[in-house]
Amino acid sequence: MVEKVIPIRLDEGKDKGLAPPIPGQLVAANTSTKDTRGRPLRDLRISVTDRCNFRCTYCMPKEIFDKNYPYLSHQELLSFEEIARLTTIFASLGVEKIRLTGGEPLLRKNLEVLIEMLAKIRSTAGQPLDLTLTTNGSILRKKAAALKAAGLHRLTISLDGLNDEIFKKMNDVDFPVTDVLDGIAAAQEAGFTNLKVNMVVKKGTNDQEIIAMAKHFKGSGVTLRFIEFMDVGSSNGWDMSQVLPSKDVAEKINAVFPIEAIEANYPGEVAQRWRYVDGSGEIGFISSVTQTFCHECTRARISTDGQMYLCLFANAGFDFKTLLRSDKSDLEIANAIMNTWADREDHYSEIRGSNTATAATRKVEMSYIGG
Ligand code: SAM
Ligand code: SF4
Ligand code: SF4
Repeated sequence: MVEKVIPIRLDEGKDKGLAPPIPGQLVAANTSTKDTRGRPLRDLRISVTDRCNFRCTYCMPKEIFDKNYPYLSHQELLSFEEIARLTTIFASLGVEKIRLTGGEPLLRKNLEVLIEMLAKIRSTAGQPLDLTLTTNGSILRKKAAALKAAGLHRLTISLDGLNDEIFKKMNDVDFPVTDVLDGIAAAQEAGFTNLKVNMVVKKGTNDQEIIAMAKHFKGSGVTLRFIEFMDVGSSNGWDMSQVLPSKDVAEKINAVFPIEAIEANYPGEVAQRWRYVDGSGEIGFISSVTQTFCHECTRARISTDGQMYLCLFANAGFDFKTLLRSDKSDLEIANAIMNTWADREDHYSEIRGSNTATAATRKVEMSYIGG
């Protein structure tokens, strides 16, 4: 039984988020800002909705995300114009990669219109941004062609097993596996290549699906990535006994289908890359519990209502929505982002379990901040 908690929401009337610091003396937007640990700002995850049609037990458990949950109203969401403006400013500061997420991003009405707007933005090198999206795949059959036409580059689909009974236990809304697989097929038909599938592994719940998933996607051109169950938010009843370390997942797979580690594509890549020795493709491991990667973390997050978070495990955000809705110029907002980033100290996964970690305090929910 998950303990009933009051979710963090910055508009609960008590707390509007931290005010982003705008310096008296403005400097030109530049890509050289580093945080207190020497990490530059290069990736942005944007949550476009805090709503979802699934109730994955590790993310939006039913007991908490019920009909009384205080979801954001339409007025509180950043508009597409606000998201595009903010993204343009982030791009001027060196951000090259954008991931749209949520909640379930495909539930945001006319999302393809936002994608079209983001596809026009250029990096400081004059290149289009790398535009990607993570989805539970439930309505991908309906949306895939429009997403591709709008200019989305890449897609990641979440799927936690192939056995219907187990998958339904994970999504907790009786959603069948076949419809997600059909969504993946629709994405391939629409012309998306290099698809990724994310499987959160919860020990004792879906770990018996590891080999079946590996077998299904091996040789298909789809890269399967195993994610360690994380202690995000304050509502998913996390404890270490439910985490199956990536090392154990890799051993299980290697015993059936031999695999070997390969080099990362770029510094700061979240997933560790492995490949099947027989040449039938790649798999990945996202090991934020047992093999932390904070030292290379170049990601900022924008919540559905325009708060900037410096870490997935943060318990407070910086209120950029108020700045966007004021008379502040792009340069003032760029300076506020640079200053906020320059003060960043976050490295939660490296100190998880220590006295300094915020583990005991309320952290922001993943569906609001974006996974
Ligand atoms: N609804 C979309 C989806 O499920 O793909 C996008 C948002 S979801 C929050 C983004 C990713 O976070 C998904 O791959 C999901 O499996 C993962 N996730 C959510 N809660 C998690 C947890 N407690 N531990 C590890 N991964 C988690
Ligand atoms: Fe929804 Fe994605 Fe969270 Fe599952 S992981 S509840 S699909 S937002
Ligand atoms: Fe980045 Fe925070 Fe995750 Fe560390 S714990 S990798 S700083 S988001």
